[in-house]
Amino acid sequence: MTPAFPSGIRTSVRVMERAWLKRELDAGRSIESIAREVGKDPSTVSYWVNKHALISSHAEKHAARGGIEREELERLVGQGFTVRAIAEELQVSFSSVQHWLRRYDLATVRARRSRSMQASLEDPTAPAVTTGECPRHGTTTFGRRPEGSWRCLRCRSAHVAARRRRIKQILVAEAGGVCVLCGYDRTVGALHFHHVDPSAKEFHLSFAGATRSIASSRAEAAKCVLLCANCHAEVENGAANIPNAAPRETSGVAIPG
Ligand SMILES: [Zn+2]
Ligand SMILES: [Zn+2]
Repeated sequence: MTPAFPSGIRTSVRVMERAWLKRELDAGRSIESIAREVGKDPSTVSYWVNKHALISSHAEKHAARGGIEREELERLVGQGFTVRAIAEELQVSFSSVQHWLRRYDLATVRARRSRSMQASLEDPTAPAVTTGECPRHGTTTFGRRPEGSWRCLRCRSAHVAARRRRIKQILVAEAGGVCVLCGYDRTVGALHFHHVDPSAKEFHLSFAGATRSIASSRAEAAKCVLLCANCHAEVENGAANIPNAAPRETSGVAIPG
């Protein structure tokens, strides 16, 4: 007999295969240990166990007893399982897990963390960053907001980047929306603000990095012309000149107004 899957195949595929799953469960393995082997979340393994109408021997034990042992609950809590993951692992209801956690005075890592995050908000000496659960980014770093709440730092930087893109879009449109040399207009990201006055070249840098107001960005953009990345490179190395601004660029002397 050739095995259904050659040994070289990625183990993550196996979790979807009924025969393999059944063999592992019959051998007394827990969902959690299978999940570890295939590198998947226990909830994913549970999904396939349910889909194939299989049941883990661990789960059968619990159904027969009608309760959850403290030792087992402690072990899962210690491994960082959430209430939902424990319920799936032991094939019991969410509220039953909550009941036994309360009964044994246990708390999941997530619950303890959210309690301690709440507590540290009221403590001015607590650190400004902490680890928390973001619905979008999972376990990640949170920063303290000045108004007294926690914010996922990855959500925050995504928000800042989106705001920057919006501001740039507006300013690009206000600056004519095209490269002044070649008329390129396909991607805002490939359009640069080039300072007509060569002594003030930092605008494109600060534009990318800071959360300046649209008003100050607009004032800065007014001193610039729009160039595409290619034309910008040519202007910077002298292969191309900006019409009208060219004499100022080459002489380096400002023309008196
Ligand atoms: Zn986030
Ligand atoms: Zn161009």
